Amino acid sequence: MVATAFRTAARWALDFALPPRCAGCGMIVGEVHSFCADCWRQIEFLGDSGCSTCGLPLQATDAVTCAVCLAKPPRIARTRAAVAYDELSRGLAIRFKYGRKVAIARTMARYMAPLVASSCNTVLVPVPLHRTRLWRRGFNQSALVAREISRRLNIAADPFVIRRVKRTPPLKGMSWLQRRKAVAGAFRVPNRSAVEGRTIILIDDVLTTGSTAEACARVLKRAGAARVELVSWARVVKPSQLMR
Ligand SMILES: [Zn+2]
Ligand SMILES: [Zn+2]
Repeated sequence: MVATAFRTAARWALDFALPPRCAGCGMIVGEVHSFCADCWRQIEFLGDSGCSTCGLPLQATDAVTCAVCLAKPPRIARTRAAVAYDELSRGLAIRFKYGRKVAIARTMARYMAPLVASSCNTVLVPVPLHRTRLWRRGFNQSALVAREISRRLNIAADPFVIRRVKRTPPLKGMSWLQRRKAVAGAFRVPNRSAVEGRTIILIDDVLTTGSTAEACARVLKRAGAARVELVSWARVVKPSQLMR
C-alpha cells in the first residue's frame, strides 16, 4: 500500500521534472501541455460548433439546433467535445491510462476548459468508474481531468456525486437498445443535496454513443439537477460510427 503510494508520487513528480512532450506522439516540445506541429495539423478540433444542444454537425436546413434535438430535446442540454476521436486522440487517451497522467490531464483540460460554460451553481462531475476498475487502475482519468478544469476555471469539481454501482460490459458493437439495457441501473446519486437545483457538467474522456453519459444524466435529473451538460475530450463524429 505504502509502496504503491510512493511509486505513484514518484511517477507524478517525474511528470513535472521531465521536459514537456507532445501529448500526441511523445516528441519533446517547447511548450508545456501542447502538441508538436505534425500532431497539431492532424488534430480535428471540434470546439463550440455544430448543434447548440448535441454539438453534432448541422444540416443546411438547421438553424442553431438540429432537427433531432428540436423534435426530442435530449436529457443532456449541451454536449461538447474538444477533438474528434481518431488515432491521435485515442493514443492520447490510452497513454493517459498507462503513462504520464498529470501532464496529459492538463493537456486535455487546456482544450476542454473553454467549452465549459460555468455559472455560480455549476459542479463538474467526472463519469465514475466501477470500484473494481478503479482499484485495478488506481485512478479515474476523468476525475483527474475534472480537477484540472476546476483549477483552471475556479469552479467546483466533485468526483463523489455519482457512484457506479454496476459493472457494465464494453458497449462497443451493441445496438442502441442493448446499450441502454447494459447501463440501466449502473449509476446512483447517493446524496441528493449535492445536485439539487444545480447545473452539473459531466466530464468524460471519450464520447462514443453517449449511452453512459445519458444514464448518468438520468440519475442526476431524478435527483433534482436543474440542468445536465457534458464536456468530453474526444468524440466519435464519423457518420458511419454514429448511431442515433
Ligand atoms: Zn506530436
Ligand atoms: Zn442536436
